[in-house]
Amino acid sequence: MYAKVIVDISNSEVDKVFDYDLDKYDLQPGYRVIVPFGKNEIEGYIIGISETTDCPKDKIKKIIKPIDNLPVIGKEFLELMEFMRRKYHLRIVDVLRLFIPAQMRGDRVKELTRKYAYVNEEYLLLPVDNFIKPTAIAQREIYQYLTEVKSASLTELNENFSASALRNLVARGIVSLTDKQLRRVPYSQTEDDIKTDFVLSEDQNNAFETICNSDFNKFLLHGVTGSGKTEVYIRCISQVIKQGKTAIMLVPEISLTPQILRTFRTRFGDKVALLHSGLSVGERFDEWQRLLTGEAVIAVGARSAIFAPLKNIGIIIIDEEHDSSYNSESNPRYFTSEVAEFRQSYNDCKIVYGSATPSIESFYRTEIGELQLIKMPKRVKSRPLPDIEVVNMCEELYQGNNGVFSEKLQDELFKCIKAGNQAIIFINRRGYSSFVMCKKCGYVAKCEACDVSLVYHKDEDVLKCHYCNNRYSMLDVCPNCGSEHIRQGYVGTQKVAETLQEMFPNEKVLRMDNDTTRGKDSHLKILSEFASGKAKILVGTQMVAKGHDFPNVTLVGIVDADMSLHFADFRSAERTYQLITQVAGRAGRDDKVGKVVLQTYSPHHYVYKFALTNDYMGFYKKELNLREVTKYPPFSKLVRILVQSEDELKAQQNLKKIYDVINEFAVDHPDNFAFLSAMKSPMKKIQLKYRVQILMRIVKNEDETISTVYKAIDDNVDKKVSCFVEINPNSLY
Ligand code: ADP
Ligand code: ZN
Ligand code: ZN
Repeated sequence: MYAKVIVDISNSEVDKVFDYDLDKYDLQPGYRVIVPFGKNEIEGYIIGISETTDCPKDKIKKIIKPIDNLPVIGKEFLELMEFMRRKYHLRIVDVLRLFIPAQMRGDRVKELTRKYAYVNEEYLLLPVDNFIKPTAIAQREIYQYLTEVKSASLTELNENFSASALRNLVARGIVSLTDKQLRRVPYSQTEDDIKTDFVLSEDQNNAFETICNSDFNKFLLHGVTGSGKTEVYIRCISQVIKQGKTAIMLVPEISLTPQILRTFRTRFGDKVALLHSGLSVGERFDEWQRLLTGEAVIAVGARSAIFAPLKNIGIIIIDEEHDSSYNSESNPRYFTSEVAEFRQSYNDCKIVYGSATPSIESFYRTEIGELQLIKMPKRVKSRPLPDIEVVNMCEELYQGNNGVFSEKLQDELFKCIKAGNQAIIFINRRGYSSFVMCKKCGYVAKCEACDVSLVYHKDEDVLKCHYCNNRYSMLDVCPNCGSEHIRQGYVGTQKVAETLQEMFPNEKVLRMDNDTTRGKDSHLKILSEFASGKAKILVGTQMVAKGHDFPNVTLVGIVDADMSLHFADFRSAERTYQLITQVAGRAGRDDKVGKVVLQTYSPHHYVYKFALTNDYMGFYKKELNLREVTKYPPFSKLVRILVQSEDELKAQQNLKKIYDVINEFAVDHPDNFAFLSAMKSPMKKIQLKYRVQILMRIVKNEDETISTVYKAIDDNVDKKVSCFVEINPNSLY
């Protein structure tokens, strides 16, 4: 018998599959093996077994030995590999890297031993004054932090605290160092603030019963912010665990807050494996192993946790299903929901998509019978949704206020802080495109064919549509009101944070954006500082909008709400609706009533009208109608082929070859396409590579058409040219 073995999965950029003689071993696909390779011995994975080989008998080598005593890639994953390879046109190496943690790939990624610090037990019980002087502030800070988090790496401590204070604590035996991080199981010190004895609300109970008892297997749980979706997930998971099955729960990376981790630990203890970016390679591997061996039966994590090595799955939950982070934007590209549904069908289990603001595409699936809709229209304990007030910034300008904050928002801020509550200021700053807007009347330049905002291209001094490549001349005056106050650009988080600090010199203002969250756990630190109440104001970008549950937040300010509305993206209205609803949903989640001030230059836009009254259905109908007319998803698949090369001419020639093949197909199948064109990419050059692209919208025979696209690429891509296919991409740069 012969095995097809793929080797060098860590380093190779191509699939290297070779035949080996199985010799005396009786192995199935999925085993990890050692094989001879050139003069060396290397690691490989068996991906197929056959009785014959094309390899000449005298050339074929024997497998040296299997590494483990069970296959590390189960049958389900072998099938999933095939599915992903075909569906997303991926290389096997790329798929395997998703399945198998870096530690297991026998590659060079060796975990550096990291030192962790923790407070010795005897010092946890004594009053701190007994052993750290009140004046030793630096030592106290470290002590305080370590008692809160239990253990922290030396690197992290040295980045944030005084190194000499730490040395002092270690020398005096108050703090010790170890090579292993102490796990916070099960978050014992905070257990009291995790309630576990909720009586489910009527909506929650109905959702739970429906998911457990329906003949349907796929659900969309549409529950307003604060309706208690998490509790529903937890009950459903408990239920399947009782039946001896396993569960996967996905949340967007940014919502993997200490709170949600703690909730799951408290409820399920060691049965949960947590997979998040805060883990080191070694820690990830430990959690993965616990899942593989069945020690842990619940995987909670971001996108990649969909590949958790669980068997006999009973339920898969995708929370905040509308979140764009579920679509990977770099290679390997895949759709989390499609992978999830592959696993759903393989395991014949349930899948629940949850959101307060479902994507248009998912909601549409409830209408065509693919998903069963479950609604939770009320917040728990009948708490009201926050009241949203719209401020017209054009008028504010007319009144002579040129600043970032309207009078109204300033008033509310002072009231909120005075009352001892907390505020979140959200700066809507998605993408970098510079749309063109009239500051006086709010007019925004849009493409006539696509109804998306135009983008100003400075080098050519024109406005362009990123979807159809239509060009328009740049505006000098507003075509609507004749004003010359044409604006580009956006307000920065830093500036807003500084302004707030001046307004409230005695309060701590926290900032959360791409700049302040570079470090490994930095966003968690900011969130826990805000949760502790030490800081009263949190300023940030979309990161502050997601899933957080801070009971003392009574005010949410939305600066520049329009930013995402005029983003050159067919989903911009949808994204704006989602962002506003989500960020507004952070206010008034406990017994205090919430207030939202929304600042805009386009106060009459339909997105705001529907967001104000929390009318998701109204918004959905309007938006779906637009999509149908303009032939955008869910009424088409938007496909982009991006060709990049350092040699501009080569990129263009290659694109032309691919385009000619697809175009020929389009001539024969005109009904399949709503749009097809080759053009320069909106960002013409990134990191020295020239970028050209083909954009198309497919409205019929998707699978056949997309296969044709892949084939056209395979047959025509030259060396030195890289080519990516993106389907319904999140952005077009
Ligand atoms: P969502 O995810 O729908 O926005 P959460 O799951 O975060 O809402 O729940 C909102 C808040 O309500 C949380 O603080 C949660 O602990 C609380 N909660 C959930 N269910 C109940 C219930 N049945 N009774 C009382 N409080 C609840
Ligand atoms: Zn105008
Ligand atoms: Zn257009």
